[in-house]
Amino acid sequence: MARTTHHVRRVTLLAAAVLAGVAVGAPAAEAAPSASPGSDGAGDAYYPQDGNGGYDVADYNLKVGYDPASHDLTGTQVITARATQGLSSFNLDLNGLTVDSVRVNGAAAKFARTGEHELVITPDRPLRRGQRFTAEIAYHGKPAPIQDPRLGPNGWQYSANGGAFVAGEPHSATTWYPVNDTPKDKATFHLAITVPDEWGVIANGRERGTSKTERGTTHVWAEETPAVPYMTTVAIDKWEFSRGRLANGTPVVSAFAPGTSAATKAAEARLPEIIDFLSSKFGPYPVDAAGGIFLAEPIGFSLETLSRPIYSGRAGNIQTIVHENAHQWWGDSVAVDDWKDVCLNECFASYAQWLWSEAKDGQNLDDRYRTQVKQVNDRFWAGKLYDMGPGNEFTSVYSKGPLALHALRHQIGERAFNLVLRLWPTLHRDGNANLPEFQKFTERVAHQNLQGFFDAWFYGNAKPADQYLYPGNLKP
Ligand SMILES: [Zn+2]
Repeated sequence: MARTTHHVRRVTLLAAAVLAGVAVGAPAAEAAPSASPGSDGAGDAYYPQDGNGGYDVADYNLKVGYDPASHDLTGTQVITARATQGLSSFNLDLNGLTVDSVRVNGAAAKFARTGEHELVITPDRPLRRGQRFTAEIAYHGKPAPIQDPRLGPNGWQYSANGGAFVAGEPHSATTWYPVNDTPKDKATFHLAITVPDEWGVIANGRERGTSKTERGTTHVWAEETPAVPYMTTVAIDKWEFSRGRLANGTPVVSAFAPGTSAATKAAEARLPEIIDFLSSKFGPYPVDAAGGIFLAEPIGFSLETLSRPIYSGRAGNIQTIVHENAHQWWGDSVAVDDWKDVCLNECFASYAQWLWSEAKDGQNLDDRYRTQVKQVNDRFWAGKLYDMGPGNEFTSVYSKGPLALHALRHQIGERAFNLVLRLWPTLHRDGNANLPEFQKFTERVAHQNLQGFFDAWFYGNAKPADQYLYPGNLKP
């Protein structure tokens, strides 16, 4: 995410050694417990009710009819999942909207709505641990955004010209479909959406064609790269499309709302160059498609929706395009474990903008760093890059974050820093990670104990001591 108000594999022998040394622990097999209700939350400290426990989603197959004139949405969601415990019942998350029926493995299931956004499903017969199952939820209603005190509306939103789009973090997907709303449960995402013929549609992943129906035109999109729920989107407008390919053949589809400036279109035309540049820093592009969604609405942020970031009408510029595409590695392919780890998304996407300015505009980043360090006040240093508290995720990560990474670059040296940037996304591709893990990994690559450095920059909330503020040759 880039706030509009801000400004926003090669595996070498060494890499193989690092990979081997950082094995991910697999839980030992347990005796199958008897069936019990799945947890109503996925355990995030800031948003404990988000997501659910007891199962793992593999795929969302969503069929939606939407009428822009009435705002009426009718949906059928088919979730393919695997039970991770014996389940007498399990939950999905859904904000508002009316559930009409639920079937589990084809049989009618009981359901109830509880709490802010829980949909409790009780299958006809309990699910065994390890069992694959499908849940089919039919629902309808007029979607409404969730109001975030800092970011404004999140999730399903309406355009002034009658269109609609989905953008929000940390909350978004629950405003338009039933979902396991946690970054820890990634799944492929298949969408078929029917709208009146005069409207266009863009979503995540690859285009799978259109077909005429009696209610309009059905547009089919398939995202085969596992997606975190809030990275899924759909946008309905009178789009102007631009299509191309990256050098490796990956399809690029971008959509511009009516009135998009020539400057924004020219910036997006550089997307293959931008992804090339980011790949040279972070390793191979980890997603199956690319592009962008350029809104006319001047919303308060742009967002790294998977394969196809969505841009505020105020932010169709190179720096934001670099930022959101850097997230495809930092945030999308490697998602946070918990929201307190959001620096792994935003600090790196923000520093990617620095790297771009260094490579393409010849900017001296040491000068930039020293100038900023001189300008900032105690309030700046008090901002936290880790465990910043709910509602504070999208603040210091954009400003103090890139300074911390530039200091880290000098602390561990160019070679180790470049290795970290390339290896980390490969190591955790399509997975989740947290900041303490990143510290351990960086220490291993750099052969340095970095506790003091990480305390000063990432875990602390005061100006770092000179030894960490001006490591290496950063000293003015
Ligand atoms: Zn961002």
